[in-house]
Amino acid sequence: MIAYIGLGSNLGDRRATLRAAVRRLSEHGRIVAVSSLYETEPVGFRDQPWFLNAVIALETDLDPRELLRTLLAIERSFGRERTFRNAPRTLDLDLLLYDGVVENSVGLTVPHPRLHERAFVLVPLAEIAPDEVHPLLGLPVRVLLEQLGDRATEVRRVDGPEWVNGDAVA
Ligand code: ADP
Ligand code: MG
Repeated sequence: MIAYIGLGSNLGDRRATLRAAVRRLSEHGRIVAVSSLYETEPVGFRDQPWFLNAVIALETDLDPRELLRTLLAIERSFGRERTFRNAPRTLDLDLLLYDGVVENSVGLTVPHPRLHERAFVLVPLAEIAPDEVHPLLGLPVRVLLEQLGDRATEVRRVDGPEWVNGDAVA
């Protein structure tokens, strides 16, 4: 199964954290695509450092629930403390899409419920999976990105997909 995972960091050595996170993810499958690296102004609580964001595609045998549990364990191992919504975080890992799976249960919502309104998700996701269809909205990622209009300029590309190189990519 192919899962699309969003990565974000806005505390500490952000790039090193994201690289280490990709390496950890590669222990649970095969990394089949990596987006460029983007810098993003925080949403919600704005008085905090900017984020680095990227999206990867992971081919994995874990089911969505096992995968999310793994993502949260990796987040915790990077010292993320859940304080308040939209608070700064060393590492944020979101399960964005998992094949065509739709699930809405306690603790797990797939597709990620805010995927379609976030430039920092759609821009990197559209880079590696423009034709992937959002199973609830019935629209490909490239169209979701078009629907953001000017908001797509909220993210700034700071490095190509080679930002992760030497670490984990199959
Ligand atoms: P966000 O990433 O949207 O800013 P958080 O990272 O604070 O929000 O996550 C909130 C909670 O949402 C997590 O503790 C996790 O258990 C839950 N959750 C449910 N579905 C998902 C998903 N698809 N991806 C990531 N977290 C999810
Ligand atoms: Mg999250």
